[in-house]
Amino acid sequence: MLMDFFSLDLTTITDTEAIIRLAPIVCQWYQYGMIGGESDLTAQRHQMVAEQIEGRGIEDTAVLQAMRAVPREHFILPQYRPHAYDDTPLPIPAGQTISQPYVVALMISQLDLTPNDKVLEIGAGSGYAAALLGQIARVVHTVERSSELVDYARQRLIGLGCNNVHVHLGDGSQGWPDYAPYDAIIVAAGGPKLPSALSQQLVVGGRLVMPVGRRRRKQKLIRVSRLRVDKFSRINLGPVAFVPLVGEAGWREEE
Ligand code: SAH
Repeated sequence: MLMDFFSLDLTTITDTEAIIRLAPIVCQWYQYGMIGGESDLTAQRHQMVAEQIEGRGIEDTAVLQAMRAVPREHFILPQYRPHAYDDTPLPIPAGQTISQPYVVALMISQLDLTPNDKVLEIGAGSGYAAALLGQIARVVHTVERSSELVDYARQRLIGLGCNNVHVHLGDGSQGWPDYAPYDAIIVAAGGPKLPSALSQQLVVGGRLVMPVGRRRRKQKLIRVSRLRVDKFSRINLGPVAFVPLVGEAGWREEE
C-alpha cells in the first residue's frame, strides 16, 4: 500500500525531504498524502505550525520539524478530518481526546529531548503525540489503559512506519518498569498528584511533564527535573484541562 520513497517526484517535496535527510528515518510521513488518493493536508499542517505553534513562541526546531512531518489527520476519526488542524482537542474512541496541537508541542518542548533519549508516555490515546516523540527521540514507550485505544494507536503508528514507538496496555500511573529508567516522561492525562513510580523511573538529569490537580478535569501543568537521586525540582507551566489519569496512583474509575 505504501509507495516507495524513491518513486516520488522530488519536485513536489519541500520541507519533508529536508526532514528525511536530516533525521534518522523512523516514520514514512512523506508517503501519507498519496495513500488511497486522500487529499494532502500538508499546507494546512504547515500553517498550523506557523500560527499555533511558532506564533505562540515555541522555538524548539526538533518539535517544529516533527509537527510539520506528522499527519494529525491520520490519528483522528474520519468525520473530524476537516478539523484536523483546528486549534482544539478532538474526540477519539473510548470517550478520550487527542490533545490540542499547541499543548502537545508545549509539553514536548519542555522535555528538552535529544536524539538519543528513551521516552515514556502515559496515555497513548490516538498515538499522535507518541509519533511526534518518535520523530525526535531514539525510542518511545507509551502506555494506554484502554485496549480499544491500544489497537487504535498501534494500527496508526504501524501504518506510518513508526517502528521506534512501542504501545503497551496497562496502568501508566505505575509507570512502565520494564524499560526504566527514562530520560523523559510525558503524562497526557491529569492526576491528583505526581505518582512516585514515575519520578522514580526518571534518570538523574531526566525531565517529566504532567498535568496535576485536585479536580478531575482541571490541572496545572508541571515540569519536574530529577537533579539527584533524591532531589527533584518542580515548576508550574500554567493551567490546563486534561482527561483524568485513571489508575492506582491516579483517580478512581467512577468519582
Ligand atoms: N497522547 C494522546 C492523548 C491522550 S488522552 C494523543 O496524542 O492522542 C489521555 C489518554 O490517557 C486516554 O487515552 C486515556 O485512556 C489514557 N489514560 C488515562 N489513565 C491512564 C492510565 N492510568 N494509564 C494509561 N493510560 C491512561
